[in-house]
Amino acid sequence: IGPAKNSVPATNPTKKLLLSPDSIINLDHGDPTMFEPYWRKLGEKCTVEISGSDLMSYCSDIGNICWFLEPQLSDAIKRLHRTVGNAVSEDRYVVVGTGSTQLYQAALFALTSPGRAEADPISVVCAAPYYSSYQEETDFLRSGLYKWAGDAYSFDKDGPYIEIVTSPNNPDGAILEAVVNRKEGKLIHDLAYYWPQYTPITHPADYDIMLFTFSKSTGHAGSRIGWALVNDKVVARKMTKFIEVSSTGVSKESQLRAAKILGVAIEGCQHSDSENFFKYGQCLMAERWEKLRDVVKNSQIFSLPKYPQEWCNFISKYSESHPAFAWLKCKEDTNCESLLRAHKILTRGGERFGVGQEYARISLLSRERDFNQFLERLSGIKTAGQGIR
Ligand code: PMP
Repeated sequence: IGPAKNSVPATNPTKKLLLSPDSIINLDHGDPTMFEPYWRKLGEKCTVEISGSDLMSYCSDIGNICWFLEPQLSDAIKRLHRTVGNAVSEDRYVVVGTGSTQLYQAALFALTSPGRAEADPISVVCAAPYYSSYQEETDFLRSGLYKWAGDAYSFDKDGPYIEIVTSPNNPDGAILEAVVNRKEGKLIHDLAYYWPQYTPITHPADYDIMLFTFSKSTGHAGSRIGWALVNDKVVARKMTKFIEVSSTGVSKESQLRAAKILGVAIEGCQHSDSENFFKYGQCLMAERWEKLRDVVKNSQIFSLPKYPQEWCNFISKYSESHPAFAWLKCKEDTNCESLLRAHKILTRGGERFGVGQEYARISLLSRERDFNQFLERLSGIKTAGQGIR
């Protein structure tokens, strides 16, 4: 992650700079900057003041399994899930992590340790197209406990395994269930996008390990706060141990900021649509998708997935998904990422997600100016060969 060469600096988002035709639009990462205007409008309401003598201890709540979890954050997380209705959080252990990225690794450790003498590392699978970071995060340290084994649909090895279920899925927004379904399997549910702005909330999710993140729920990726809701005490304890060893806990400043902002988001849910962050986000995402579908409809080269209408308990309406990413498909034999790169749009190609190069994932969470410029450039691409050098 980092600014692309030649991209317009992101330091002054309030200025409506026009993108020059030469500038690069970086839609490779799902950086959730589109939500900045909502939070800016709230002014000081979310400000947290921290004095020099605050939060100096390593510890937060030594009686809790996750001893570095601030009680205010734990409370806010549970209240938020109750308010949104997207997950069962009562009687669950909450484990906080430096983003859900750290919790993913903590969960792998917890489900595979202490390890089996002389045995192969446990296979980790996920249905393709899968979130591209899982593979890297799983194999980065060449653990003897677990190993990436790719697409869950083609997994046929006997014995224990871990399946990651990402729902709604990154990259394609699909609502997914486990696919291997054998009794030796353990599941990690990554529910980063199970929030009303991205998808209808059809039921409270109720799984053994559920991962959520501040990055995608409210858009505060920079605070690096994620949380896991865990059923099993031993698993929660092992996940806590992993975080203890890797970072001796999680920044308390970040936790307090997250607690404050989640509290404001919960309060906003009692108010009108424009004050309700999730309803505001839902309208914004629906608007972006409508504009994108309009452009793609007139294209001979591109297509997008379709999503069914479902009843959303949160907005009390039928709605379809408006995923954080567009999973764009090009006509056969076209490298979608290269085609878009030739038009100075940076995306992530299908091969990184375990499928073909005719696909590319495009973040729809950028600032408005970049999104509009992206649509303009996309609508100008008339042939698959155009612009490819
Ligand atoms: N899981 C999924 C499916 C994601 O898309 C992301 C972020 N792109 C993460 C986990 C990691 O989120 P965090 O910022 O909390 O580390």
